[in-house]
Amino acid sequence: MYILDDKNAGDWAMGGASRWWLHHALESLNKALNGKLNIFQGEPQAILSKLVEETSAQTVVWNRCYEPWRIARDGDIKMAFKDADIEVESFNGSLLWEPWQVLKKDQTPYKVFTPYYRRGCLSKVAPRKPLAVPSKISTLNVSKDSLSLGELGLLPTIKWDTQMQARWDISETAAQDRLDDFVMAELEDYREGRNFPDKANVSRLSPYLHFGQISSNTAWHRAADAAAIINNEDSLDTFLSELGWREFSYYLLYHFPQLPTKNLQVRFNVFPWASNTEKDLRAWQQGKTGYPLVDAGMRELYSTGYMHNRVRMVVGSFLVKNLLVHWHEGERWFWDCLVDADLASNSAGWQWIAGCGADAAPFFRIFNPITQSEKFDKQGEYIRRYVPELADMPAKYIHAPWLAPAEILAAAGVEIGVNYPEPVMDIKESRERALAAFALTKN
Ligand SMILES: Cc1cc2nc3c(=O)[nH]c(=O)nc-3n(C[C@H](O)[C@H](O)[C@H](O)COP(=O)(O)OP(=O)(O)OC[C@H]3O[C@@H](n4cnc5c(N)ncnc54)[C@H](O)[C@@H]3O)c2cc1C
Repeated sequence: MYILDDKNAGDWAMGGASRWWLHHALESLNKALNGKLNIFQGEPQAILSKLVEETSAQTVVWNRCYEPWRIARDGDIKMAFKDADIEVESFNGSLLWEPWQVLKKDQTPYKVFTPYYRRGCLSKVAPRKPLAVPSKISTLNVSKDSLSLGELGLLPTIKWDTQMQARWDISETAAQDRLDDFVMAELEDYREGRNFPDKANVSRLSPYLHFGQISSNTAWHRAADAAAIINNEDSLDTFLSELGWREFSYYLLYHFPQLPTKNLQVRFNVFPWASNTEKDLRAWQQGKTGYPLVDAGMRELYSTGYMHNRVRMVVGSFLVKNLLVHWHEGERWFWDCLVDADLASNSAGWQWIAGCGADAAPFFRIFNPITQSEKFDKQGEYIRRYVPELADMPAKYIHAPWLAPAEILAAAGVEIGVNYPEPVMDIKESRERALAAFALTKN
């Protein structure tokens, strides 16, 4: 059964792109269950109690979630059922290691990724091997109270999902196929290739992992089993450690439940964010900052619900450091637009990029969107795909088109400030402004 619970989620009710993904994921699950998926909306405790009564169930089981609001809710449900002599069991269906099992010698949580992962996780028992899909699953008849999928109202009323529809195949089978293709063809060059947004070397499994259509354990073991056929151990190690970063995000959220809202490093509480940032924020959201790599990333996000990791770092640094807009704004926009929006990874990602997280990028590491673009999208192919106004710019000038000679701009049909925006600010000046702001947190 599936229960859509927006009330307990509060501020963290799913955003638009996640709801869109969820609709298609439930549709596919229902099909796999021969139309036997029960769908509800509302307060899970009341819905479950009613169903337990109707079916005379003696046991209720579920997979654990780690968002603070879900932990609180599920704890209450567990207690209520136990009081009513109904057996309750929860399982780990989504993490490689439980957050409470990995602690330092002094029994406190790790705050730095490498010792957490290498010493804490890898020295523990290896992630369990996934079981095969059962050959037969017994299901109840659909309850008379079950809603139709359409009644959940997850799809957008304004049709912004056409490109997303073409981009994604949302089913468990598609997730398995994606993993197979990745392991067979792309994993070998993952370590290097994962830096280039136009290359096919990342798995793009994140939304499937988030929604539980494939587990981290499956990804881990399928990749590890491929060690025999790939010649690049470093690539395998890097991919497994990225799954480790996902674990670390959940780990931080579990041990520091304030992760989505509060700076983990409290000295950032006095950071002087810019005021009146609406215009800059809107330019960033719409992919109209005048910096091609940033604009390409933001438009990839808006049109496909996904953004390549390197570009997430570049656009994040741009918002927080060059524009001095609070990381909460970036976190919120990603939350609404990403199909893989995940409270743990999104909050940890934004705290990392803002420099205020547990094991964050140092604040002074400010990604330069021009040099990042020259290095990781040298020919400008990624930019051309998402910023069609610049499609005819030569590679030499595509990274900073306002610096191109007039005749080059004219030949490419680009008019800066007319059909492609002027840069919203100067990179050098904004970098100095950011460093001066950061200096105030050191007092
Ligand atoms: C500002 C910011 C916000 C982010 N928000 C999210 C989010 O909401 N949801 C999300 O799943 N990821 C988020 N990430 C992490 C990362 O960008 C994505 O997981 C990755 O780009 C997904 O693409 P992929 O599946 O092709 O990754 P791959 O490179 O193929 O990696 C495989 C898997 O490892 C995990 N992973 C990889 N990198 C990271 C990372 N840095 N942190 C945590 N897990 C990682 C993901 O589950 C990913 O699917 C964010 C990163 C940043 C910098």
